[in-house]
Amino acid sequence: GDEDLDSAASPLPSVSASHTDRRWSDTTSYAGKKKLRSWFQLPNGNWELGKILSISGTESVISLPEGKVLKVKSENLVSANPDILDGVDDLMQLSYLNEPSVLYNLHYRYKQDMIYTKAGPVLVAINPFKKVALYGNYYIEAYKSKSIESPHVYAITDTAIREMIRDEVNQSIIISGESGAGKTETAKIAMQYLAALGGGSGIEYEILKTNPILEAFGNAKTSRNDNSSRFMNHAYEQCFLKMNHVVSILIVLHLFFPLIMDSGIHKLEKLNLMSAKEYKYLRQSSCYSINGVDDAEQFRIVVEALDIVHVSKEDQESVFAMLAAVLWLGNVSFTVIDNENHVEPVADEGLITVAKLIGCDIGELKLALSTRKMRVGNDTIVQNLTLSQATDTRDALAKSIYACLFEWLVEQINKSLAVGKRRTGRSISILDIYGFESFDRNSFEQFCINYANERLQQHFNRHLFKLEQEEYIQDGIDWAKVDFEDNKDCLNLFEKVPSPLTQLRVFVLTTKGVLLCYIFYLVVCHAFGIFIQADLTDEESTFPNGTDLTFANKLKQHLNSNPCFRGERDKSFTVSHYAGEVIYDTTGFLEKNRDLLHLDSIELLSSCSCHLPQIFASNMLSQSNKPVVGPLYKAGGADSQKLSVATKFKGQLFQLMQRLESTTPHFIRCIKPNNFQSPGLYEQGLVLQQLRCCGVLEVVRISRSGFPTRMSHQKFARRYGFLLLESVASQDPLSVSVAILHQFNILPEMYQVGYTKLFFRTGQIGMLEDTRNRTL
Ligand code: ADP
Ligand code: MG
Repeated sequence: GDEDLDSAASPLPSVSASHTDRRWSDTTSYAGKKKLRSWFQLPNGNWELGKILSISGTESVISLPEGKVLKVKSENLVSANPDILDGVDDLMQLSYLNEPSVLYNLHYRYKQDMIYTKAGPVLVAINPFKKVALYGNYYIEAYKSKSIESPHVYAITDTAIREMIRDEVNQSIIISGESGAGKTETAKIAMQYLAALGGGSGIEYEILKTNPILEAFGNAKTSRNDNSSRFMNHAYEQCFLKMNHVVSILIVLHLFFPLIMDSGIHKLEKLNLMSAKEYKYLRQSSCYSINGVDDAEQFRIVVEALDIVHVSKEDQESVFAMLAAVLWLGNVSFTVIDNENHVEPVADEGLITVAKLIGCDIGELKLALSTRKMRVGNDTIVQNLTLSQATDTRDALAKSIYACLFEWLVEQINKSLAVGKRRTGRSISILDIYGFESFDRNSFEQFCINYANERLQQHFNRHLFKLEQEEYIQDGIDWAKVDFEDNKDCLNLFEKVPSPLTQLRVFVLTTKGVLLCYIFYLVVCHAFGIFIQADLTDEESTFPNGTDLTFANKLKQHLNSNPCFRGERDKSFTVSHYAGEVIYDTTGFLEKNRDLLHLDSIELLSSCSCHLPQIFASNMLSQSNKPVVGPLYKAGGADSQKLSVATKFKGQLFQLMQRLESTTPHFIRCIKPNNFQSPGLYEQGLVLQQLRCCGVLEVVRISRSGFPTRMSHQKFARRYGFLLLESVASQDPLSVSVAILHQFNILPEMYQVGYTKLFFRTGQIGMLEDTRNRTL
């Protein structure tokens, strides 16, 4: 009978079939669920809340809103929570923790501008795409004095501060989510709270004022998010991949608009700037201006911010010159000089202006863009580049000038805030990281981003595990029965074989007595290339005749034993990530690998008469110890240079993780409710997909493998004691509780009895609640 209806797994909106194994199942019985609220999935995948009118056999009759009555298979119904639980501020309070219930609860709150909800230790933030009255001094004071308790970025930041002081342990606030989900905004809100607590030291003014600089440089406008802080973003996906080779991370930078528009500033004349449409890099994205953003005003704010952090007027001019050089580089074109498709740059306005701006010899620039010096044994030979190699070289140069500029600015900001002098040993780091990504077509960028997320997820799991463990141990619970997920296999996949390049930027700021780090976690992978370990970087696979197909075959050969890896047809492979399966297409992987900044380009920069390019060149050299060289250099034979770079960058990720592991983490997951930046629009499928990807459902799932529902003996006895059919000899709460457990046949593996509390697996209490509600 009713047993058949057990474990009514939630059929998922068809986001990805691969998630079926991750379904949440409710282990409660449908017995006597008549008149109860239940979720029914519509053909479009959305869930609708209905009431069960009757159940017969495997079929149920339910009534949906607007008077519709349907006969459906009971297995397609998923338990809904009683309405007293509508809009709870922590998802863990839900009796039924299934996907539609979570979606509903978040939406219920979102409709009332309650954009923040807790999922256990995690704060979920849903982008309102409009001003919500949740910020400012009134709220800051309220959270400071704890007169408001509802979930908020302020509350999480406040907890971080308190724990830092109480435990004398460094803290981190880890913010993740898709592009446009609100990560940067959230980071700013957290900084606002920290700055407000700084209390008149003057430094917080500097903190908030330096934001515009980093925004201007770190942001690229994309069609998805007006303020995307992502270098390689979705517009990149849309515009560039079509062109079948990586062009540039420079899509449209905020700063370029002010540069171009504000012709009133005399020094800009030197930069020989034209209108935005004249630049190829800017043309690649069709967005030329941002509604409602005053470019001139932005420019003024950026200059003011540069002044505040003591970047001299002279250096400011160099900064703008470098940006202009990047733009002009994009306009450098090539002509074919022989029948082997070798090219030479055209000596036009573009080339001349670049040489002038970075202060190099025009002939040297030409050589650097069209030839490559190669070491063969003890000899150096000069190889002419083909059109596509030259284009890649040009774009790699532009990208690295831009990246170095960004890094240099961060350094200036740090210096000006004299971080070193104020070090107190206590810190709060704010991380703004791209979330897990899964598109129809996933390439190297996704591979890197997802690897970084996999690492963070491991960190997250461990932290959660620790939190849980502490509570169980405190209450004398058998810890061995708690079974936690582990993503080690998946990590091995990345760490044992191809390690993506990840670059970190650490932006350290101080506020009164608190060292505050703003860590930009950028994946600028293709500027450096994929890492393939020794056996995969042999000449065969990386030499010019190595193709994506041979690379894919190598991967398959080497990784097939890993349970998280599956080779696919052609050039693809699948990785089972914690957030679901992703198929990666290796098309272009090797090309991106070749898209490296070559020694020739670094040498060019170091020969420049301007001091910024010189600094960039020496930074690049010292960062990698040895020049970053592409596989073409492998001709020299035993060459560990590539590996040393690989080790270097992997090292940076490990450094970050190590640093994070010494902190108490606080997690914020940002969710984008629609792709139109439209307030009020809540698309279930989209939200669900992100909940899965940013690990919110994962946290719930992890908790389910433990005993997430807790209730003190007293409360449990009081709440359900009246349901007892036989009287209990002893009236103490523990004896009453145990009698209830027996009467309701709650299986021993479904609960644990602690010293003060009862611990339940998910869904168990829901069943008791239902019975209680029917009886009352
Ligand atoms: P991300 O950094 O995740 O790419 P952003 O932080 O830049 O995304 O947010 C994108 C846009 O969403 C912002 O420009 C802003 O308009 C809106 N937004 C995000 N968070 C909030 C918020 N808490 N309140 C109001 N608007 C927000
Ligand atoms: Mg951002």
